[in-house]
Amino acid sequence: SKELGGNQFNFYVTEMNQRTERRMLLESKLRCALTQHAFTLHYQPKWDSQSLRMTGVEALIRWFDDEEGFISPAEFIPLAEDCGLISEIDDWVTHRACQDLLSLYGESEPQLSLAVNLSPALFIKEDVYRRIARTLEETGFPAHKLELEVTETLVVSEVGSVYEQLSKIRNLGVEIAIDDFGVAYSSLSRLKQLPLNTLKIDRSFIQDIGTDPNDEVIVRTIIDMAHNLNLKVVAEGVETEQQYQFVKNHLCNQVQGYLFSKPVPLCELAVLLRQQDQA
Ligand code: C2E
Ligand code: CA
Ligand code: CA
Ligand code: CA
Repeated sequence: SKELGGNQFNFYVTEMNQRTERRMLLESKLRCALTQHAFTLHYQPKWDSQSLRMTGVEALIRWFDDEEGFISPAEFIPLAEDCGLISEIDDWVTHRACQDLLSLYGESEPQLSLAVNLSPALFIKEDVYRRIARTLEETGFPAHKLELEVTETLVVSEVGSVYEQLSKIRNLGVEIAIDDFGVAYSSLSRLKQLPLNTLKIDRSFIQDIGTDPNDEVIVRTIIDMAHNLNLKVVAEGVETEQQYQFVKNHLCNQVQGYLFSKPVPLCELAVLLRQQDQA
């Protein structure tokens, strides 16, 4: 057509091709990464908002490629979902994170709870319950110290088995948190139906505390609503003292963000833990 004529159309096609090439390159690298153990985990602490004691950590995957450098999970997790590699990756993460945390405590039971992110794509094809049960069995990690973070998109999805799978996982003693809460507009009735423990308020709302009164109302409303439903609330992406004071004053249970700590390798987490135990 006229609108897509000439140079503009060529530009469009070139950009499409570049994007497809990048995807294909990353996809083949991703397959190699799995077999060559190119992934590592970082751990970002969660703190009790009143006492500022570290009460848990979230495992976040890291991928270093020799040519590309660090590739963000925000880029490769969606790709892994598309090309069917996500279950292998999330299995590896859960397994490794359980082992890592156990290794910090020797013979005694971990004091920190451990959160891992599970892709909503897993719930479509996989028996997530069996995978989690097997990981707990194989690692000996205490179920009540494990927390699964699933995004709000899973809550609004039409996957029929979500309720059943989450219930079976809850019956193991494992906790369930809804991640990125507030962006997918899940309904209250849907939230009430699912066996949840925690809501994590999406970072985008926390970021604008102090600059956008609308976001402050949203944050306050989410906290009140969650507490009325007997759910704990975590504020993620807390970067400023002002944001922290706001969520603390509104009785948000836990906080997480660069203000307190970035995600760190296991050895640095061990140092943070030792400092806390000595304090
Ligand atoms: P998420 O689960 O919402 O994780 C929070 C992201 O925000 C992390 O990015 C974290 O490093 C970053 N973050 C934490 N505090 C702050 C802060 O104060 N300010 C800012 N600007 N950012 C902060 P990361 O590690 O790049 O992960 C991005 C996303 O990739 C995660 O979002 C999660 O959805 C996904 N992801 C990461 N690891 C895994 C994994 O093992 N499995 C699956 N399925 N997804 C993962
Ligand atoms: Ca998360
Ligand atoms: Ca999040
Ligand atoms: Ca805003």
